[in-house]
Amino acid sequence: MAVQIICPNLRCRKILSVPDEVRGKLVKCQYCQTTFRVPIDKKAPAPQSSEEKKQ
Ligand SMILES: [Zn+2]
Repeated sequence: MAVQIICPNLRCRKILSVPDEVRGKLVKCQYCQTTFRVPIDKKAPAPQSSEEKKQ
């Protein structure tokens, strides 16, 4: 499931669809090349719970 976020660059403001798994990670806007962190949704805050790695 993809997450839709708006590019924080005020001169860009494109809506970007990124995979759910990039929450909390850095992504680069393909339109303006701005790198920013994807906000973690109101899903589990997970401060110190062990991550489930699907590998
Ligand atoms: Zn952008």
